[in-house]
Amino acid sequence: MTTTREAVLAALKGVTDPISGQDLVSAGPVRALTVDGGSVRFVLEIDPARAELMEDVRAKAEAAVRAVPGVEQVSAVMTAHREASPELDLGRRPEPAGPRRIAGVDRIVAIASGKGGVGKSTVTANLAAALAAEGRRVGLLDADVYGPSQPRMLGVSGRPASPDGKTILPLRNHGVTMMSIGLMTREDEAVVWRGPMLMGALQQMMNQVQWGALDVLLVDLPPGTGDVPMTLSQNAEVTGVIVVSTPQDVALLDARKGVDMFRKMSVPILGMIENMSTHICSNCGHEEHLFGHGGVRAEAEKLGIPLLAEIPLALGIRLASDGGAPIVVSRPTSPEAAAFRRIAQYMIETEAG
Ligand code: ADP
Repeated sequence: MTTTREAVLAALKGVTDPISGQDLVSAGPVRALTVDGGSVRFVLEIDPARAELMEDVRAKAEAAVRAVPGVEQVSAVMTAHREASPELDLGRRPEPAGPRRIAGVDRIVAIASGKGGVGKSTVTANLAAALAAEGRRVGLLDADVYGPSQPRMLGVSGRPASPDGKTILPLRNHGVTMMSIGLMTREDEAVVWRGPMLMGALQQMMNQVQWGALDVLLVDLPPGTGDVPMTLSQNAEVTGVIVVSTPQDVALLDARKGVDMFRKMSVPILGMIENMSTHICSNCGHEEHLFGHGGVRAEAEKLGIPLLAEIPLALGIRLASDGGAPIVVSRPTSPEAAAFRRIAQYMIETEAG
């Protein structure tokens, strides 16, 4: 049975907006509704101050749509209808939701992982530097709210300027134009990002940062399948996603969930990367498989996704990242750097970079 847009709207009309007392469709918070076979996606544009109240409404709206005959998959996310960044509240409404391009940016490639600590940020920083070394105009948007580490990995610090109070000037190092959610708050400030705040900050970073002309913008996503990957998939035209995993079963299981979510959101999976694949002892050169080996290759084959690289667990990779110059920059002729360079070249050949 095919689900129609009208049937979905009728279901949403059955849910009351507690603020206006009207139904959700008449009250107007429903945005970017897409009905694609049995898969329904929409955004609720809300006042961040009412986030908790609206979470209940979001759940009710999702349940109402799920009950529509033919609906198999529903995703409803909340977006702040005004700026919600604690530091850079620039007093401008975000553009309307719905997949859109970022002005001047040719491609958006997201780097995802099922769980934290698998080296997603390390891979993103090296990939960005490798693409820049190939002569590409590269941006890096660090949206990893749980641990924004790109400022440290790319060796940039300081707050991005906003001379006109409207746009944000990104920072730049190693040929990479960078903006991090970590730079939008003070370093000593622990921020609990609530859903709508996140959406506002993400939209600001996509639309108000002066990215300039870019061949590709890499987005370092937080691990898992939460609000940020969902919002990015819904609000931006994402060229594709690369999933990073270690070979361990537990990490793979989470990676599989990630792959599944992006597939449901119709975002192409460009490939998987096995990180911490083998360990080569820096003293004797002995090779060990600390986290197993080949797990990601097998999984990628099973899922019909290309395996882009197997990156070794190497002290040099960690030291380089901690030192603010990814190994692609600090030791460009090392075998580890070569592994990242090959991914960058593959991305360029396949028009993804
Ligand atoms: P994530 O972004 O997935 O949370 P990070 O990129 O922050 O993970 O990596 C976690 C830690 O592991 C960092 O200290 C990083 O330097 C280190 N690391 C990541 N990949 C490698 C690797 N291939 N070899 C050695 N250390 C690595």
